[in-house]
Amino acid sequence: MRRLPIFFLLDVSESMAGDSLRQLQQGLERLVRSLRTDPHALETVYLSMIAFAGKAKTLTPLIEVASFYPPRLPVGSGTALGVALEHLMVEIDKNVIKTTPDRKGDWKPVVYLMTDGKPTDNIANALRRWQKYYKNQVSLIAIGVGQYAALDTLRQLTDQVLHLDAQTEEDFRKFIDWVSQSVVAQSRSVSASSNEGVNLAKLDDSIMSKIGDLSAAAKVDEDFVILTGRCQNTRLPYLIKYERMPFNFDGGNFSMRLDRYNMAGVMALESDYYELSDDSMATPTINTDALVGGAGCPHCGNPYAIAACGNCNQLMCIRGEGDARCPHCQFENHFGFSEGEGFDISRARG
Ligand SMILES: [Zn+2]
Ligand SMILES: [Zn+2]
Repeated sequence: MRRLPIFFLLDVSESMAGDSLRQLQQGLERLVRSLRTDPHALETVYLSMIAFAGKAKTLTPLIEVASFYPPRLPVGSGTALGVALEHLMVEIDKNVIKTTPDRKGDWKPVVYLMTDGKPTDNIANALRRWQKYYKNQVSLIAIGVGQYAALDTLRQLTDQVLHLDAQTEEDFRKFIDWVSQSVVAQSRSVSASSNEGVNLAKLDDSIMSKIGDLSAAAKVDEDFVILTGRCQNTRLPYLIKYERMPFNFDGGNFSMRLDRYNMAGVMALESDYYELSDDSMATPTINTDALVGGAGCPHCGNPYAIAACGNCNQLMCIRGEGDARCPHCQFENHFGFSEGEGFDISRARG
């Protein structure tokens, strides 16, 4: 039986953390449940899950649908699409059986790439290699999620670029159903007609649109800030998310746009966050004056999750005023409160 390899290349950068990642996690479970009810998919489809942030990691190597269990999705820092592509190409070379004169290999592999941001690394080399050796051998479906996805970059990888704008859980479920219908359609078509063109289910255009002309795709600035810190007591990482609220100041003779960011939520992370994060990248900073609202530590309940170490400038949680050892660099800090003095802290890299 010839296999139909399906790879999922999933962006698990910090901007996906929270609702998006939870919905994706539930979505994968829904996807697998539905594939298991289809005899063609059960017979031919092999699935692999790869997650990427600053680094890429295979969560599940290529395996038949009946034995596939959705892995827990991790979170990391960065959106290294170049690194992710390199990793994908290695996985394809390693796992996909090529057709030779005396053997029929696997069907043409299909890749579903999902990302919600701009690449944080240089993708030029990976892109060149992809275009030269893989683009025609692999069906890549690139799905840009939300308004900040770099659709123009995705267009260089494939003609199949879709833009997903899922506002509700129901929208996201429809999207997942579309993926499973597309996978099923593909497995039927290879079984029936040996046709290797990619088959996608009909799009529900209320949540998804095919991107043909990119001039129509608006480019927007990021409007959230994500900070990462580490719990002083458990040493586990956490994320703090702020959302932009634009504020226009009109002073008669001049006007300016000030950006303020409102506290939107805190989220506990697991230690595998560090595994998928690339520490070598330059870290953008933001002044705390721009941030409105604080947060407590989601791991230990310390009331202040945004205390910056005086030595390494990384964030940690503290109980309040007094001495605290930095969980990043072990520096002994003394924290006191000062009025109105903002300080620059490290931003996560999305
Ligand atoms: Zn803590
Ligand atoms: Zn430190």
